[in-house]
Amino acid sequence: MQEYEDNKRLFFALWPDEGVRRQLHELIPQSLSRPTSAQNIHITLVFLGDISSAVLAQLTHCIDTLKSPSFTFTIDRYGWWRGPGVYWVGPRDVPQPMLQLFESIRSCAVKAGISLDSRSFKPHATLARKVRQRPRARHTFNIHWQVNRFVLVESMQGEGGVEYCVLREWALGEW
Ligand code: ATP
Ligand code: MG
Repeated sequence: MQEYEDNKRLFFALWPDEGVRRQLHELIPQSLSRPTSAQNIHITLVFLGDISSAVLAQLTHCIDTLKSPSFTFTIDRYGWWRGPGVYWVGPRDVPQPMLQLFESIRSCAVKAGISLDSRSFKPHATLARKVRQRPRARHTFNIHWQVNRFVLVESMQGEGGVEYCVLREWALGEW
């Protein structure tokens, strides 16, 4: 595929506020390899891949029309994906408004001509990568996350690894 210079690697995400970010970061066991840095912790809603500014303009036009409610959920479980060695935390219960938000963003992306992979939505925050052994069961935790906005993020390769830059945010309301 031809690479265009103005393409950006983009994704939509839930971006924790400082309090939730700190609590999530505190869940990372000291011993794990490749821990996610505190400022990078997030939940991906829809991963877009490399997107041109023209396609992005079309996409954000659609996103601007969405009317989605704010919601809360609880981070209360952890898991491990053997292949990539991803250690993650996420909610046992995924609230309906989160699923609807995912579907709405997805349909805007499809309308803008972006091809998405068909993996099902498994909301999670990656806390470490390349973890080669299943982490031992941890104490239980309940982190309450009030979601009042979602964001569009650019993923960039920095000198010290991946860096995420929030480009825009959209408020969720009481619809
Ligand atoms: P990862 O190691 O999890 O891929 P990363 O730090 O390398 O993350 P990116 O690859 O730019 O950064 O990914 C940005 C975000 O989008 C991450 O949350 C990542 O897990 C997620 N992501 C990347 N590729 C996909 C994909 N094909 N489908 C769904 N989510 C994806
Ligand atoms: Mg990646």
